[in-house]
Amino acid sequence: MYDIESALTLWLSDRMRRVLHIQSGILDFSREFLKQKEFVEILPVVISPITDPLTDHRIRGEVECYGFRYQITKSMIFHKQLSLYSLPRLYTFSPNVRIEASECRFSGKHLIEFVQLDLEVKDARREDLLNLGEELFVHILTRVKADFAAELKFFRRDLKIPSIPFRRITYSEAVESYGLDYDNKLSVSIDEPLWLLDFPEENREFYDRENPDRPGILIDMDLIYPEGYGEALSGGEREFEYEKIKRRIMRKGIDFKSYEIYLLFAQKGLLPSAGFGIGIERLTRYICGIQQIAETRMFAKLPGVLSL
Ligand code: AMP
Ligand code: MG
Repeated sequence: MYDIESALTLWLSDRMRRVLHIQSGILDFSREFLKQKEFVEILPVVISPITDPLTDHRIRGEVECYGFRYQITKSMIFHKQLSLYSLPRLYTFSPNVRIEASECRFSGKHLIEFVQLDLEVKDARREDLLNLGEELFVHILTRVKADFAAELKFFRRDLKIPSIPFRRITYSEAVESYGLDYDNKLSVSIDEPLWLLDFPEENREFYDRENPDRPGILIDMDLIYPEGYGEALSGGEREFEYEKIKRRIMRKGIDFKSYEIYLLFAQKGLLPSAGFGIGIERLTRYICGIQQIAETRMFAKLPGVLSL
């Protein structure tokens, strides 16, 4: 049953109003920064014959229109790559739907519908995106601190502006120190954001570029929030060569048929690029110091819970 009383309590609260003001600021400050960096905003795609495979998400949201099967966007990775034909630096605020396992309801950081600030840069290398991500993050934090001091005080949030460059470690170093479930332990152990680099191929999707000098290792990254807030963003360089993309799809055991249209473009030639996507609700959660992601937006949808 839908819990109308809890919804009303949340929506009528001073706390919610303050969260939404800060969140609106986060969107403004992101746009302000990206405009300075000559990015162009494109509109989000909600349904398409192709979306991010995210092979750990077994349930595919699909709609049938006019006899064609469209999938509900899990991420706009392929649409970002294809938009590079028109624009060399682009971003979008993309609503993603991912049917997460119902036990994720208790994680405090999973929604089944969330928004990513998703950006892509033609001819960029991972290094460029690490620098851009750091500057973007520091810009947003600095602007929120300046414009929303009263709100942050309300949340008793003493936000530290991290120093650039952020520390970097590799995936294998993280696993060595914290084990395969390094996720939370690593985030709890740091008090400044940290880059996690070089994921193994089996942990990621086929579109993250394999390091030509280190087979099986990808040129990609995650940004990890400090204080236990977990993963902030994921990104990397992209595979753009047809044969390599085909090989990667095959190694994942994915049917070529489901990426037929994408492969047609790849055959014509995709453009080299790198990019990343940062979840807005998780960023709001971190900035406000809120434990429950359900309190970071209107109409938050927790896995397994009927939501508006
Ligand atoms: P991914 O491509 O899966 O790494 O997603 C990009 C970013 O979106 C992540 O780093 C998170 O900030 C955010 N994100 C991913 N999944 C979820 C989710 N289920 N709920 C909220 N935010 C998410
Ligand atoms: Mg990720």
